[in-house]
Amino acid sequence: MLARGGYYQTSSWRARSQRQLERFPLCAACGGRARIADHVQPRGLGGADDGVLQSLCVRCHNLKSSSEGGKASKAKREASRAEPK
Ligand SMILES: [Zn+2]
Repeated sequence: MLARGGYYQTSSWRARSQRQLERFPLCAACGGRARIADHVQPRGLGGADDGVLQSLCVRCHNLKSSSEGGKASKAKREASRAEPK
């Protein structure tokens, strides 16, 4: 689950994410109260540890994470789900 979590355990990341939330306390996606500093370009998709951050609330972060994690299997899912919404 947290295979790439190493960096997020470091004190430098904690300090950085805390600074991000202090500077930008509102969710970049919905304007709600942000709780998470998120890499705009995901580290799993080529983003750097020190890449640009955005503040997100838990809900928007989960939505973003699940869509990022599902990118590889998205084509497969859409292929099996042929009917339009
Ligand atoms: Zn949000």
